[in-house]
Amino acid sequence: MFNLDINNRKDLQIDDFKFLQAFKEPGQPVFFRITQDSTRSFGKNENCIMMDTEEEYGFMRIVFKRYQNKGCGIFFVVNNGGQKGKDITSISAHFGDADFGKEIMGTDENGKEIVRYRTQDEIEKYKRNFLIQLQQFQLEVSVIVETKNGFHFYWLLEKDNQDLNAFKLIQKAIIQKFNTDQSIVDLNRILRIPNYLHLKNPSNPFKIKCIKFDPTLRYTQREIADILKCDLSKVENQIIEDYKENYGERNILKEKIPVFQGITDKVITNEQNGREFYNLDEIISYLRRQNMIEVLGIKVEPNTPFRCIFHDDHRPSAVIANNKGIYKYFCNSPLCICHNQNGLDLIDIVSKEKSIPFIEAVTHLCNKFSIEMPEVRWRKSQEKKYAQNFNSLQDNSGLKRYTSLNKIIRWGIRVLTEINQIGMDNITSEKFNFNGENVFFFPIGF
Ligand SMILES: [Zn+2]
Repeated sequence: MFNLDINNRKDLQIDDFKFLQAFKEPGQPVFFRITQDSTRSFGKNENCIMMDTEEEYGFMRIVFKRYQNKGCGIFFVVNNGGQKGKDITSISAHFGDADFGKEIMGTDENGKEIVRYRTQDEIEKYKRNFLIQLQQFQLEVSVIVETKNGFHFYWLLEKDNQDLNAFKLIQKAIIQKFNTDQSIVDLNRILRIPNYLHLKNPSNPFKIKCIKFDPTLRYTQREIADILKCDLSKVENQIIEDYKENYGERNILKEKIPVFQGITDKVITNEQNGREFYNLDEIISYLRRQNMIEVLGIKVEPNTPFRCIFHDDHRPSAVIANNKGIYKYFCNSPLCICHNQNGLDLIDIVSKEKSIPFIEAVTHLCNKFSIEMPEVRWRKSQEKKYAQNFNSLQDNSGLKRYTSLNKIIRWGIRVLTEINQIGMDNITSEKFNFNGENVFFFPIGF
Protein backbone atom coordinates (compact mmCIF):
# COMPACT_ATOMS: atom_id res chain seq x y z
CA MET A 1 0.00 0.00 0.00
CA PHE A 2 1.56 3.26 -1.07
CA ASN A 3 0.46 6.79 -0.53
CA LEU A 4 -1.46 8.34 -3.38
CA ASP A 5 -4.39 10.68 -3.34
CA ILE A 6 -6.50 8.69 -5.74
CA ASN A 7 -9.31 11.18 -6.09
CA ASN A 8 -7.06 14.16 -6.48
CA ARG A 9 -4.08 12.99 -8.45
CA LYS A 10 -1.24 15.45 -8.49
CA ASP A 11 1.17 15.91 -11.36
CA LEU A 12 4.61 15.47 -9.74
CA GLN A 13 6.09 17.52 -12.58
CA ILE A 14 9.05 15.21 -12.87
CA ASP A 15 11.49 16.63 -15.36
CA ASP A 16 11.17 14.41 -18.43
CA PHE A 17 14.92 13.94 -18.72
CA LYS A 18 15.02 12.78 -15.10
CA PHE A 19 12.09 10.49 -15.88
CA LEU A 20 13.95 8.88 -18.78
CA GLN A 21 17.08 8.48 -16.66
CA ALA A 22 15.19 6.15 -14.33
CA PHE A 23 15.01 3.68 -17.23
CA LYS A 24 18.57 3.94 -18.46
CA GLU A 25 22.07 3.28 -17.24
CA PRO A 26 24.38 6.29 -17.51
CA GLY A 27 25.39 6.68 -21.14
CA GLN A 28 22.74 4.33 -22.48
CA PRO A 29 20.99 5.90 -25.46
CA VAL A 30 17.26 6.59 -25.35
CA PHE A 31 15.26 5.68 -28.42
CA PHE A 32 12.27 7.89 -29.18
CA ARG A 33 9.38 7.60 -31.52
CA ILE A 34 7.17 10.39 -32.76
CA THR A 35 3.80 9.31 -34.05
CA GLN A 36 0.71 11.03 -35.43
CA ASP A 37 -1.68 10.83 -32.49
CA SER A 38 -4.93 11.17 -34.42
CA THR A 39 -4.25 8.37 -36.90
CA ARG A 40 -1.81 6.48 -34.65
CA SER A 41 -0.06 5.60 -37.86
CA PHE A 42 2.90 3.45 -37.03
CA GLY A 43 5.16 2.37 -39.79
CA LYS A 44 6.40 4.62 -42.53
CA ASN A 45 5.51 7.86 -40.84
CA GLU A 46 7.05 7.20 -37.51
CA ASN A 47 10.17 9.14 -36.68
CA CYS A 48 12.79 7.09 -34.92
CA ILE A 49 15.36 9.25 -33.24
CA MET A 50 17.77 8.60 -30.44
CA MET A 51 19.68 10.50 -27.81
CA ASP A 52 23.10 9.60 -26.49
CA THR A 53 23.89 12.36 -24.06
CA GLU A 54 22.19 14.74 -21.69
CA GLU A 55 23.35 17.71 -23.79
CA GLU A 56 21.28 16.42 -26.68
CA TYR A 57 18.07 16.47 -24.69
CA GLY A 58 17.72 20.25 -24.99
CA PHE A 59 17.66 19.76 -28.72
CA MET A 60 15.22 16.86 -28.40
CA ARG A 61 12.81 19.09 -26.52
CA ILE A 62 12.76 21.54 -29.42
CA VAL A 63 12.17 18.70 -31.89
CA PHE A 64 9.38 17.24 -29.73
CA LYS A 65 7.69 20.60 -29.42
CA ARG A 66 7.70 21.06 -33.17
CA TYR A 67 6.13 17.66 -33.68
CA GLN A 68 3.60 18.25 -30.93
CA ASN A 69 2.50 21.32 -32.86
CA LYS A 70 1.85 18.99 -35.78
CA GLY A 71 -0.33 16.75 -33.62
CA CYS A 72 2.26 14.07 -32.82
CA GLY A 73 2.64 12.11 -29.63
CA ILE A 74 6.08 11.61 -28.05
CA PHE A 75 7.07 8.09 -27.05
CA PHE A 76 10.19 6.26 -25.85
CA VAL A 77 11.27 2.63 -26.13
CA VAL A 78 11.09 1.46 -22.52
CA ASN A 79 13.73 -1.27 -22.83
CA ASN A 80 17.29 -0.79 -24.01
CA GLY A 81 19.20 -1.34 -27.17
CA GLY A 82 17.23 0.01 -30.10
CA GLN A 83 13.97 0.48 -31.95
CA LYS A 84 13.39 -3.09 -33.05
CA GLY A 85 12.63 -6.11 -30.90
CA LYS A 86 15.75 -7.87 -32.08
CA ASP A 87 17.86 -4.88 -31.03
CA ILE A 88 16.79 -4.99 -27.40
CA THR A 89 19.65 -6.01 -25.16
CA SER A 90 18.28 -5.42 -21.66
CA ILE A 91 15.00 -4.80 -19.89
CA SER A 92 14.34 -1.59 -17.97
CA ALA A 93 11.00 -2.44 -16.47
CA HIS A 94 7.97 -4.65 -16.56
CA PHE A 95 4.89 -2.56 -17.20
CA GLY A 96 1.33 -2.32 -18.31
CA ASP A 97 -0.97 0.03 -20.17
CA ALA A 98 -4.43 0.49 -18.68
CA ASP A 99 -6.76 2.20 -21.14
CA PHE A 100 -10.40 2.70 -20.15
CA GLY A 101 -11.41 4.83 -23.13
CA LYS A 102 -13.62 2.28 -24.76
CA GLU A 103 -15.62 -0.80 -24.11
CA ILE A 104 -16.08 -3.72 -26.47
CA MET A 105 -19.78 -4.52 -26.68
CA GLY A 106 -19.51 -7.59 -28.85
CA THR A 107 -19.02 -8.28 -32.53
CA ASP A 108 -21.20 -7.47 -35.53
CA GLU A 109 -22.23 -10.02 -38.18
CA ASN A 110 -18.87 -9.51 -39.95
CA GLY A 111 -16.96 -10.33 -36.80
CA LYS A 112 -15.95 -6.71 -36.34
CA GLU A 113 -15.81 -5.43 -32.76
CA ILE A 114 -18.59 -3.11 -31.66
CA VAL A 115 -16.99 -0.41 -29.56
CA ARG A 116 -18.58 2.07 -27.21
CA TYR A 117 -16.59 5.09 -26.10
CA ARG A 118 -16.91 5.78 -22.40
CA THR A 119 -17.73 9.20 -21.01
CA GLN A 120 -15.20 11.19 -18.99
CA ASP A 121 -17.07 10.36 -15.76
CA GLU A 122 -17.04 6.67 -16.52
CA ILE A 123 -13.33 6.76 -17.33
CA GLU A 124 -12.62 8.60 -14.08
CA LYS A 125 -14.43 5.89 -12.14
CA TYR A 126 -12.41 3.17 -13.88
CA LYS A 127 -9.20 5.10 -13.23
CA ARG A 128 -9.90 5.31 -9.49
CA ASN A 129 -10.80 1.64 -9.21
CA PHE A 130 -7.69 0.67 -11.07
CA LEU A 131 -5.44 2.70 -8.76
CA ILE A 132 -7.02 0.99 -5.75
CA GLN A 133 -6.24 -2.36 -7.32
CA LEU A 134 -2.66 -1.25 -8.00
CA GLN A 135 -2.29 0.00 -4.42
CA GLN A 136 -3.42 -3.34 -3.05
CA PHE A 137 -0.99 -5.32 -5.19
CA GLN A 138 1.85 -6.78 -3.09
CA LEU A 139 4.62 -5.29 -5.17
CA GLU A 140 4.68 -1.52 -5.07
CA VAL A 141 4.93 0.03 -8.53
CA SER A 142 7.93 2.30 -9.14
CA VAL A 143 6.30 4.68 -11.59
CA ILE A 144 2.76 5.60 -12.61
CA VAL A 145 2.09 7.86 -15.56
CA GLU A 146 -1.45 9.11 -16.10
CA THR A 147 -2.66 9.27 -19.68
CA LYS A 148 -5.90 10.60 -21.03
CA ASN A 149 -7.86 7.38 -20.56
CA GLY A 150 -5.76 5.45 -18.08
CA PHE A 151 -2.27 4.77 -16.80
CA HIS A 152 1.10 3.38 -17.69
CA PHE A 153 2.51 1.60 -14.64
CA TYR A 154 6.04 0.32 -14.26
CA TRP A 155 8.03 -1.94 -11.98
CA LEU A 156 11.63 -0.93 -12.63
CA LEU A 157 14.02 -3.81 -12.95
CA GLU A 158 17.39 -4.56 -11.36
CA LYS A 159 19.94 -4.73 -14.13
CA ASP A 160 21.32 -8.14 -13.13
CA ASN A 161 19.83 -11.58 -13.63
CA GLN A 162 17.57 -10.68 -16.47
CA ASP A 163 16.25 -13.02 -19.08
CA LEU A 164 14.94 -11.41 -22.26
CA ASN A 165 12.97 -14.57 -22.94
CA ALA A 166 11.05 -14.19 -19.70
CA PHE A 167 9.88 -10.71 -20.68
CA LYS A 168 6.82 -11.72 -22.67
CA LEU A 169 5.76 -14.31 -20.13
CA ILE A 170 5.80 -11.83 -17.24
CA GLN A 171 4.11 -9.15 -19.37
CA LYS A 172 1.33 -11.62 -20.13
CA ALA A 173 0.92 -12.32 -16.41
CA ILE A 174 0.61 -8.58 -15.72
CA ILE A 175 -2.02 -8.25 -18.44
CA GLN A 176 -3.97 -11.15 -16.98
CA LYS A 177 -3.76 -9.80 -13.45
CA PHE A 178 -4.83 -6.22 -14.25
CA ASN A 179 -6.88 -6.86 -17.37
CA THR A 180 -4.89 -4.29 -19.33
CA ASP A 181 -3.87 -3.80 -22.96
CA GLN A 182 -3.05 -7.21 -24.44
CA SER A 183 -0.55 -5.87 -26.91
CA ILE A 184 1.96 -4.72 -24.30
CA VAL A 185 4.20 -7.77 -24.61
CA ASP A 186 6.87 -6.80 -27.12
CA LEU A 187 10.42 -6.11 -26.05
CA ASN A 188 10.50 -2.87 -28.04
CA ARG A 189 7.21 -1.52 -26.69
CA ILE A 190 6.96 2.27 -26.63
CA LEU A 191 5.07 4.35 -24.08
CA ARG A 192 4.40 8.05 -23.69
CA ILE A 193 6.83 10.46 -22.05
CA PRO A 194 5.30 12.67 -19.35
CA ASN A 195 4.92 16.43 -19.77
CA TYR A 196 3.98 16.09 -23.44
CA LEU A 197 0.47 16.29 -24.78
CA HIS A 198 -1.82 13.46 -25.77
CA LEU A 199 -3.28 14.77 -29.03
CA LYS A 200 -5.68 12.11 -30.24
CA ASN A 201 -8.35 14.74 -29.99
CA PRO A 202 -6.43 17.93 -30.88
CA SER A 203 -9.23 20.17 -29.64
CA ASN A 204 -9.02 18.55 -26.22
CA PRO A 205 -5.33 17.84 -25.49
CA PHE A 206 -4.34 16.04 -22.33
CA LYS A 207 -0.99 16.59 -20.64
CA ILE A 208 0.68 13.28 -19.76
CA LYS A 209 1.59 13.43 -16.09
CA CYS A 210 3.74 11.41 -13.76
CA ILE A 211 1.80 10.79 -10.53
CA LYS A 212 4.14 8.33 -8.83
CA PHE A 213 7.89 8.26 -9.25
CA ASP A 214 10.29 6.23 -7.15
CA PRO A 215 13.30 5.08 -9.18
CA THR A 216 14.82 3.42 -6.12
CA LEU A 217 12.08 0.78 -6.18
CA ARG A 218 13.64 -1.96 -8.26
CA TYR A 219 12.85 -5.62 -8.56
CA THR A 220 14.13 -8.81 -10.08
CA GLN A 221 12.09 -10.63 -12.67
CA ARG A 222 11.88 -13.53 -10.24
CA GLU A 223 10.20 -11.34 -7.58
CA ILE A 224 7.65 -10.03 -10.04
CA ALA A 225 7.02 -13.46 -11.53
CA ASP A 226 6.57 -15.10 -8.12
CA ILE A 227 3.93 -12.63 -6.97
CA LEU A 228 2.08 -12.98 -10.27
CA LYS A 229 2.38 -16.78 -10.01
CA CYS A 230 4.03 -16.71 -13.40
CA ASP A 231 5.84 -19.97 -14.09
CA LEU A 232 9.22 -19.03 -15.52
CA SER A 233 9.98 -22.63 -16.38
CA LYS A 234 7.62 -22.09 -19.29
CA VAL A 235 10.12 -19.70 -20.85
CA GLU A 236 11.33 -22.40 -23.20
CA ASN A 237 7.82 -22.81 -24.63
CA GLN A 238 7.65 -19.08 -25.09
CA ILE A 239 10.90 -19.12 -27.07
CA ILE A 240 9.50 -21.75 -29.39
CA GLU A 241 6.28 -19.77 -29.79
CA ASP A 242 8.22 -16.60 -30.59
CA TYR A 243 10.38 -18.53 -32.96
CA LYS A 244 7.35 -19.87 -34.82
CA GLU A 245 6.06 -16.34 -35.09
CA ASN A 246 9.31 -15.01 -36.51
CA TYR A 247 10.55 -17.83 -38.66
CA GLY A 248 7.61 -20.11 -39.25
CA GLU A 249 6.91 -23.60 -38.04
CA ARG A 250 9.35 -25.42 -40.30
CA ASN A 251 12.46 -23.85 -38.85
CA ILE A 252 11.86 -24.65 -35.21
CA LEU A 253 15.02 -25.83 -33.60
CA LYS A 254 14.95 -28.79 -31.30
CA GLU A 255 18.06 -27.68 -29.48
CA LYS A 256 18.26 -24.44 -27.59
CA ILE A 257 21.85 -23.79 -28.45
CA PRO A 258 23.94 -26.06 -30.63
CA VAL A 259 26.46 -27.98 -28.54
CA PHE A 260 29.80 -26.29 -28.98
CA GLN A 261 32.94 -27.27 -27.16
CA GLY A 262 35.33 -24.90 -28.85
CA ILE A 263 37.15 -25.57 -32.10
CA THR A 264 39.11 -28.76 -31.60
CA ASP A 265 42.43 -29.88 -33.13
CA LYS A 266 40.74 -32.84 -34.74
CA VAL A 267 41.93 -33.30 -38.31
CA ILE A 268 39.26 -33.16 -40.97
CA THR A 269 40.02 -35.44 -43.88
CA ASN A 270 38.68 -34.82 -47.33
CA GLU A 271 39.62 -35.65 -50.88
CA GLN A 272 41.82 -32.55 -50.97
CA ASN A 273 44.11 -33.78 -48.17
CA GLY A 274 47.77 -33.56 -49.00
CA ARG A 275 47.09 -31.16 -51.85
CA GLU A 276 50.05 -28.88 -52.43
CA PHE A 277 49.70 -25.14 -52.26
CA TYR A 278 52.35 -22.82 -53.51
CA ASN A 279 51.44 -19.62 -51.77
CA LEU A 280 49.50 -18.27 -48.84
CA ASP A 281 46.79 -16.59 -50.90
CA GLU A 282 45.90 -19.91 -52.44
CA ILE A 283 45.69 -21.52 -48.99
CA ILE A 284 43.55 -18.70 -47.60
CA SER A 285 41.09 -18.87 -50.43
CA TYR A 286 40.91 -22.66 -50.03
CA LEU A 287 40.32 -22.43 -46.27
CA ARG A 288 37.56 -19.86 -46.74
CA ARG A 289 35.65 -22.37 -48.82
CA GLN A 290 35.71 -25.10 -46.16
CA ASN A 291 32.59 -26.11 -44.29
CA MET A 292 32.38 -23.84 -41.24
CA ILE A 293 29.68 -25.92 -39.61
CA GLU A 294 31.93 -28.97 -39.70
CA VAL A 295 34.88 -27.07 -38.26
CA LEU A 296 32.73 -25.70 -35.43
CA GLY A 297 31.43 -29.18 -34.84
CA ILE A 298 27.84 -28.09 -34.24
CA LYS A 299 24.51 -29.31 -35.47
CA VAL A 300 22.89 -26.53 -37.45
CA GLU A 301 21.61 -26.12 -40.93
CA PRO A 302 23.12 -23.56 -43.29
CA ASN A 303 20.97 -20.44 -43.79
CA THR A 304 18.76 -21.31 -40.81
CA PRO A 305 18.80 -19.10 -37.70
CA PHE A 306 19.98 -20.64 -34.44
CA ARG A 307 21.01 -19.45 -31.00
CA CYS A 308 24.51 -18.06 -31.26
CA ILE A 309 27.32 -20.15 -29.77
CA PHE A 310 29.57 -17.16 -29.15
CA HIS A 311 27.37 -15.25 -26.73
CA ASP A 312 24.65 -15.91 -24.19
CA ASP A 313 21.95 -15.85 -26.80
CA HIS A 314 18.29 -15.61 -25.87
CA ARG A 315 16.86 -15.79 -29.33
CA PRO A 316 18.12 -17.29 -32.54
CA SER A 317 20.43 -14.42 -33.49
CA ALA A 318 22.94 -16.31 -35.56
CA VAL A 319 22.96 -17.82 -39.00
CA ILE A 320 25.70 -19.54 -41.00
CA ALA A 321 25.11 -18.54 -44.55
CA ASN A 322 26.46 -20.59 -47.39
CA ASN A 323 26.73 -18.28 -50.33
CA LYS A 324 28.10 -20.05 -53.38
CA GLY A 325 30.39 -22.20 -51.31
CA ILE A 326 31.66 -19.49 -48.98
CA TYR A 327 30.47 -19.96 -45.40
CA LYS A 328 29.92 -16.87 -43.29
CA TYR A 329 28.80 -16.51 -39.70
CA PHE A 330 26.37 -13.70 -38.93
CA CYS A 331 25.25 -12.74 -35.43
CA ASN A 332 22.67 -10.02 -34.94
CA SER A 333 23.54 -9.24 -31.37
CA PRO A 334 25.63 -6.10 -31.01
CA LEU A 335 27.09 -7.58 -27.83
CA CYS A 336 28.56 -10.57 -29.61
CA ILE A 337 32.24 -10.90 -30.59
CA CYS A 338 30.98 -12.16 -33.94
CA HIS A 339 28.73 -9.19 -34.65
CA ASN A 340 29.75 -7.92 -38.06
CA GLN A 341 27.38 -6.87 -40.78
CA ASN A 342 29.54 -8.45 -43.47
CA GLY A 343 29.69 -11.73 -41.61
CA LEU A 344 32.79 -13.61 -40.52
CA ASP A 345 34.47 -16.24 -42.67
CA LEU A 346 36.04 -19.43 -41.36
CA ILE A 347 39.45 -17.86 -40.69
CA ASP A 348 37.87 -14.89 -38.86
CA ILE A 349 35.78 -17.26 -36.77
CA VAL A 350 38.80 -19.34 -35.72
CA SER A 351 40.71 -16.18 -34.94
CA LYS A 352 37.81 -14.89 -32.74
CA GLU A 353 37.15 -18.19 -31.04
CA LYS A 354 40.79 -18.81 -30.15
CA SER A 355 41.70 -15.12 -29.67
CA ILE A 356 44.64 -15.55 -32.00
CA PRO A 357 45.87 -13.39 -34.89
CA PHE A 358 44.71 -14.07 -38.41
CA ILE A 359 47.89 -15.84 -39.53
CA GLU A 360 47.82 -18.18 -36.53
CA ALA A 361 44.23 -19.01 -37.38
CA VAL A 362 45.42 -19.92 -40.87
CA THR A 363 48.10 -22.19 -39.36
CA HIS A 364 45.51 -23.82 -37.11
CA LEU A 365 43.24 -24.52 -40.07
CA CYS A 366 46.15 -25.81 -42.14
CA ASN A 367 46.78 -28.41 -39.44
CA LYS A 368 43.11 -29.21 -39.36
CA PHE A 369 43.01 -29.85 -43.09
CA SER A 370 46.48 -31.44 -43.27
CA ILE A 371 47.83 -28.68 -45.42
CA GLU A 372 51.45 -27.67 -45.22
CA MET A 373 52.09 -23.99 -45.14
CA PRO A 374 54.62 -23.15 -47.90
CA GLU A 375 57.10 -22.09 -45.21
CA VAL A 376 56.79 -25.44 -43.48
CA ARG A 377 57.35 -27.29 -46.71
CA TRP A 378 60.50 -25.24 -47.39
CA ARG A 379 61.82 -25.93 -43.91
CA LYS A 380 61.21 -29.65 -44.29
CA SER A 381 62.96 -29.78 -47.67
CA GLN A 382 65.96 -27.96 -46.19
CA GLU A 383 66.08 -30.29 -43.20
CA LYS A 384 66.01 -33.23 -45.55
CA LYS A 385 68.91 -31.80 -47.54
CA TYR A 386 71.08 -31.37 -44.43
CA ALA A 387 70.19 -34.85 -43.22
CA GLN A 388 71.29 -36.30 -46.57
CA ASN A 389 74.53 -34.29 -46.41
CA PHE A 390 75.14 -35.62 -42.94
CA ASN A 391 74.61 -39.20 -44.03
CA SER A 392 76.95 -38.93 -46.98
CA LEU A 393 79.60 -37.28 -44.81
CA GLN A 394 79.36 -40.11 -42.29
CA ASP A 395 79.38 -42.73 -44.96
CA ASN A 396 83.06 -42.51 -45.91
CA SER A 397 83.37 -46.22 -46.83
CA GLY A 398 84.26 -45.25 -50.38
CA LEU A 399 87.17 -43.17 -49.21
CA LYS A 400 88.67 -45.97 -47.10
CA ARG A 401 89.84 -47.72 -50.18
CA TYR A 402 91.98 -44.74 -51.10
CA THR A 403 94.21 -44.53 -48.03
CA SER A 404 96.34 -41.58 -49.13
CA LEU A 405 93.42 -39.46 -50.24
CA ASN A 406 91.62 -40.33 -47.05
CA LYS A 407 94.53 -39.01 -44.99
CA ILE A 408 94.33 -35.64 -46.74
CA ILE A 409 90.58 -35.00 -46.66
CA ARG A 410 89.63 -36.78 -43.39
CA TRP A 411 90.01 -33.54 -41.41
CA GLY A 412 87.83 -31.83 -43.98
CA ILE A 413 84.90 -34.19 -43.31
CA ARG A 414 84.77 -33.08 -39.69
CA VAL A 415 84.75 -29.43 -40.73
CA LEU A 416 82.07 -30.08 -43.36
CA THR A 417 79.96 -31.98 -40.81
CA GLU A 418 80.12 -29.04 -38.43
CA ILE A 419 79.28 -26.54 -41.15
CA ASN A 420 76.38 -28.77 -42.17
CA GLN A 421 75.21 -28.76 -38.53
CA ILE A 422 75.32 -24.93 -38.43
CA GLY A 423 73.20 -24.88 -41.56
CA MET A 424 70.69 -27.29 -40.03
CA ASP A 425 70.48 -25.19 -36.87
CA ASN A 426 69.95 -21.99 -38.80
CA ILE A 427 67.34 -22.64 -41.45
CA THR A 428 66.12 -19.20 -42.46
CA SER A 429 62.89 -18.15 -44.07
CA GLU A 430 62.35 -19.07 -47.69
CA LYS A 431 62.72 -15.37 -48.48
CA PHE A 432 66.49 -15.56 -47.72
CA ASN A 433 67.65 -18.03 -50.30
CA PHE A 434 70.48 -18.37 -52.73
CA ASN A 435 69.55 -20.24 -55.88
CA GLY A 436 66.64 -21.75 -53.95
CA GLU A 437 68.80 -22.99 -51.09
CA ASN A 438 69.03 -21.97 -47.46
CA VAL A 439 71.49 -19.24 -46.58
CA PHE A 440 73.07 -19.06 -43.15
CA PHE A 441 75.34 -16.62 -41.41
CA PHE A 442 77.63 -16.97 -38.46
CA PRO A 443 79.41 -14.19 -36.64
CA ILE A 444 83.04 -13.33 -37.22
CA GLY A 445 85.18 -14.98 -34.53
CA PHE A 446 83.21 -18.20 -34.62
ZN1 LIG B 1 26.43 -14.04 -31.11
